[in-house]
Amino acid sequence: MHYISTRSHNTKTTSNFSSVIMEGLASDGGLYIPKNFPKFSSLELENMINMSYEELCVEVIFKYCGTCLTKEEIKIIALDSYKNFGTNDIAPIIKVTDNINILELFHGPTLAFKDFALQFLSKVFNILLEREGKKITIIGATSGDTGSAAIEAFKNNSLANIIILHPEGKVSDFQRKQMTTVDAGNIYNIAIDGNFDDCQALVKKLLVDKDFNNKHNLASINSINWGRVLAQVVYYFYSAFKVMKGKDNKSVNFSVPTGNFGDAYAGYVAKKMGLPIEKIIIATNSNDILSNFFKNGIYKISKVIPTISPSMDIQLASNFERLLYETLDHDPSLVREYMKTLSNTGSFKIRNEKLKALNETFIGLGVSDEATIERIKSTYNNNSLVIDPHTSVGLEAAYNYNYSLKGPCIVLSTAHPVKFADAVSSAININSDLPEKYKNIFSLDEKYHSLKNNLDTIKNFIDSTSNV
Ligand SMILES: *Cc1c(COP(=O)(O)O)cnc(C)c1O
Repeated sequence: MHYISTRSHNTKTTSNFSSVIMEGLASDGGLYIPKNFPKFSSLELENMINMSYEELCVEVIFKYCGTCLTKEEIKIIALDSYKNFGTNDIAPIIKVTDNINILELFHGPTLAFKDFALQFLSKVFNILLEREGKKITIIGATSGDTGSAAIEAFKNNSLANIIILHPEGKVSDFQRKQMTTVDAGNIYNIAIDGNFDDCQALVKKLLVDKDFNNKHNLASINSINWGRVLAQVVYYFYSAFKVMKGKDNKSVNFSVPTGNFGDAYAGYVAKKMGLPIEKIIIATNSNDILSNFFKNGIYKISKVIPTISPSMDIQLASNFERLLYETLDHDPSLVREYMKTLSNTGSFKIRNEKLKALNETFIGLGVSDEATIERIKSTYNNNSLVIDPHTSVGLEAAYNYNYSLKGPCIVLSTAHPVKFADAVSSAININSDLPEKYKNIFSLDEKYHSLKNNLDTIKNFIDSTSNV
C-alpha cells in the first residue's frame, strides 16, 4: 500500500504505512492519502457481518498496512485497545425511532469517540518506535476531546513526550480537568490565547518546519494523521452490519457531528471500501462552513462562534483537504491553488457538477444552540435518554433529513453527557453522575502553561521539554 500527499506527487511524498503514521503530515504540508482504496467484494462483506469488533479491525486495517503490521499484530493491538470499553459492547446501538439509531462511541477511558482511534494509534506507535529504536515528541491540537484521549493513551510512555495545545477558556471545565490533572512526567498542556484553528495552525507549522521537526522527532495525533481516520473506519462497518443484519435493509445512512471532518471522512472511506452507505449527513453547529459547503459548493471561512458543542467550534476542517483532492480529480496542483485562494481571499467555490457529485453522498445541516437544546429535551422526554450536545446536533440533523433517507440512519454519539454537564443540565435539569474514575476530578490540582499564540513562543517551550 502506497500513500501520496494531497499537495504533490513526487517520490519524496510517496510513503509506506509506517512513515505515514510517524510523519502525520506530509513534508509539503499536504495530507497523506492511500493511492488506491481497497474494496471488499460482496462475498467478503457477507463474511464480515457477524465478526466481533476486533475481528473487523483486522479485516479493515490490514488492507492499509502493507508489510508493516501482521494480522496477528493488529488483532493483539485491537484486543488491548478496546478491553476497557463499556461492559458488554464496545459500541452499543440504541433505537430512537423506527428509522433512527444512536451509536454510542463514548464508553472508552476519556468518554468521547476519540478513544477509539487514540488507544489504537498509541499501540501502533509503540510497535513502530520499538522497532526503529526511536523516541518522539507528539504535538497535538485539541478542541477538547482529542487532548485527553491522547494523554490517556500516551501517559507514562518512555518513548514519547506529549504536548497538547488547547484554546484557553474554550473547552468545558471537565474537558480541561481531564487533560490537566493527569500526573505523568511526559505530559505538557498548553493553553493558547486563541481558538482551535489557531492551535491547529501552530501544530501544522511545527510539523512542516524541517529543522525543528528533526530536532524533536515530532509526531502528530490529530486526524491529519491517517492512522486516526483509519481506526475510525471500523465502527462504520460494525454498526452498519448490526443495523442491517437479519433485516431487509440493503443500505444505511450516517449522521455525523462534524468539526475537523475526520470522523465523517472515515465514513466515506468505509463507503469507498464497499460498505453500502447511502448518505453521510454532515451535522455542524453554528460553525457551519462545511454544512454550507455541501449546500452551495462555497467554502467560506468566517469567525469561530463559541457554542454549547465546543468540540466542533472549528472553521478550518483539516480532513476536508482529503475529499477536496478527490473532487479536484486527484490533481495536487489544483489542491495547492484552491488552498492558496482560500488563504488569500477566505473562500473558494467548486463547480456545480462537482457539488452534485458530492451530494450523492454528503448532505449538510447547521444546527443552532436553541435547536440543540430542544433536541436534548425531546430525546429525554420521548426516549428517557440523556444525550450530549454534539450527539444532539447529529440527531437533530437526522430528524431533519429523515423523510428523504433510503434505509435506516445511524447517528454517531460522540461524547458522554457528563463532559458537557452545563449544557445538558440547562436543557433537562438533570445532572448525570460522574463515572467512578472521575469522581474526584474537580478537586485535583491542575497543571498547564498559558502561552501566546506565537510560533517562536511554542518552539522555545518545546525546546525546554525535549527528551529526544
Ligand atoms: C472531535 C469531536 C467531534 C468532531 O469530530 P471531527 O472528526 O473533528 O469532525 C464531534 N463531537 C465530539 C464530542 C468530538 O470530540
